[in-house]
Amino acid sequence: LTEACLGAIEGAGALNAFVHKTPELALEQAKAADARLKGSEEAPAMCGLPLGIKDLFCTKGVPSQAASRILEGFLPQYESTVTQKLFGAGAVMLGKLNMDEFAMGSSNETSTYGDVTSPWRRAGDDAALTPGGSSGGSAAAVAADLCLAATGTDTGGSIRQPAAFTGTVGIKPTYGRCSRWGIVAFASSLDQAGPMTKSVRDAAIMLGTMAGHDPKDSTSADLAVPDFEAMLTGDIKGKKIGIPREYRMDGTPAEIEKLWSDGAAMLRDAGAEIVDISLPHTKYALPAYYVIAPAEASSNLARYDGVRYGHRAKLAVGDGITEMYEKTRAEGFGAEVQRRVMVGTYVLSAGFYDAYYNRARKVRTLIKKDFEDAFAAGVDAILTPATPSAAFGLGEMADTDPVKMYLNDVFTVTVNLAGLPGISVPTGLDAQGLPLGLQLIGRPWEEGDLLNTAYALE
Ligand code: GLN
Repeated sequence: LTEACLGAIEGAGALNAFVHKTPELALEQAKAADARLKGSEEAPAMCGLPLGIKDLFCTKGVPSQAASRILEGFLPQYESTVTQKLFGAGAVMLGKLNMDEFAMGSSNETSTYGDVTSPWRRAGDDAALTPGGSSGGSAAAVAADLCLAATGTDTGGSIRQPAAFTGTVGIKPTYGRCSRWGIVAFASSLDQAGPMTKSVRDAAIMLGTMAGHDPKDSTSADLAVPDFEAMLTGDIKGKKIGIPREYRMDGTPAEIEKLWSDGAAMLRDAGAEIVDISLPHTKYALPAYYVIAPAEASSNLARYDGVRYGHRAKLAVGDGITEMYEKTRAEGFGAEVQRRVMVGTYVLSAGFYDAYYNRARKVRTLIKKDFEDAFAAGVDAILTPATPSAAFGLGEMADTDPVKMYLNDVFTVTVNLAGLPGISVPTGLDAQGLPLGLQLIGRPWEEGDLLNTAYALE
């Protein structure tokens, strides 16, 4: 299996999904997995399965750059908890996957390694499409069968949107379900790791392996991880599924509306009760996210100073430490990352902190409360579109108005702000044959239930 994947990766260089390949390590891990599978002990379900790992995860001794020039040459001395858990269960690492720089983006066009191309094309049109972002390499690699599954991370939609664009399954678990230790931080109060897979069952198995308490991450929950796979019965009789009216937005294409109502009908046919609900603060989610995420990013990215990690600019005679910081950060960060650092620094500055950052935090509390009220009223899960459209063309949105790109996250950011689990499931194709996905949002810590509802929709 590992050899087949390594061969497929060699043949798919044009996708630019893998940015660093680890064939020797993969074959070594695969041999160990073989021995374990032939041994007497019962091997875990992930044993011997070849995976791709998003470049945001620190992997010991293997380049981990968060697709940024500023981390050029950085070799972690440690393994992230999530990858450690996967490899401990016998999974095999094929290499590191492309992504938007520091996970900032929705199209994988901000990477220092260049764009990722989706394996999908519109019918009768050879124009290259985005696999989505920021976990674009992960989505493309899974969709193109270069690996059996991949890790992703999701701060505002970076697992769910690329899953929807590539016909794959992606789940962002409840905040605190997976340890963030060893994952390069973007916005720490929003970041979560999760699996990107070919099916809901694979997602259940892989999430069960990635999840669990970790004393090295103070926000990681000390809760038992249920057997998610065992919860996939497909029985959703009597479940209450909410359809939030505020997600019906102007300009949503008719085919997305249809996908959504077809999805609701499918769940109703499976015995669920469909109810209209209101999440009144939805329209404030995107602005609040684009204050909070850059604020946290500006603080997290202060550590890239040319001293501690990776790249340092060449200095001129007479340059002092200030010039060293300035030149290193100007060269090392791409345009989108610089934009986020500037926005974040601005909203955190003394004169604007209350007007922007504190206000956004209050809005975040209201958004969270909207969901709590819906769940308190008996709703088990919420069904929405995952994205406002199918995959767009490479170059179609980049280099224009950055806000246009941010609008891609309109259905996904609420879930991160509220810390809830959300899953994107492929449920149809658009008129040009491109995959479309629906999102299900669940109660905190009830990923098992959420996966089971997704299983009924798949
Ligand atoms: N597209 C969003 C952003 O650029 C979300 C990214 C993510 O989830 N990492 O911030």
